[in-house]
Amino acid sequence: MTVDCLICRKAGDEENRIHYLPHGLYLYESKYFRVRHSDETKIAGYLIIESKRHFLDLSEATEEEAAEFGVELARVVRAVRRVTHPKRVYTFSLAEAVPHFHVHVIPRDENLPARYVGRGILSYPLQPSLNESTRDEVSQALRRVFKALS
Ligand SMILES: [Zn+2]
Repeated sequence: MTVDCLICRKAGDEENRIHYLPHGLYLYESKYFRVRHSDETKIAGYLIIESKRHFLDLSEATEEEAAEFGVELARVVRAVRRVTHPKRVYTFSLAEAVPHFHVHVIPRDENLPARYVGRGILSYPLQPSLNESTRDEVSQALRRVFKALS
């Protein structure tokens, strides 16, 4: 854990631990990764997969972490599809704002304005964020699906 890293700091905060489900920050965790709903944008089901260990990108992952990542990415995309029924699911990692490996998993539905489709998603406004009740609702649905897929 690196104390000046936002992702490590959040994970170290007891209140955010998965053990505090169903109201903790994380929706799901595997051996090497954890998943939370994004607090940026108003897109319901926009999830972030974070590595538990602090590293920049998959070049620094162990063989075991890299192998598990593939399985977990598939599981997260399935869960997002099952709950939000999007046309596409975008997945990407930039690690610019927070240099700790994390992957954005963004459901893209039919109603997204054309300017945000495809690479345009990167200019989607970060604010306002999703209202709390919608986020809780979609988070609960995702927790149930993660449980069923585990
Ligand atoms: Zn970190």
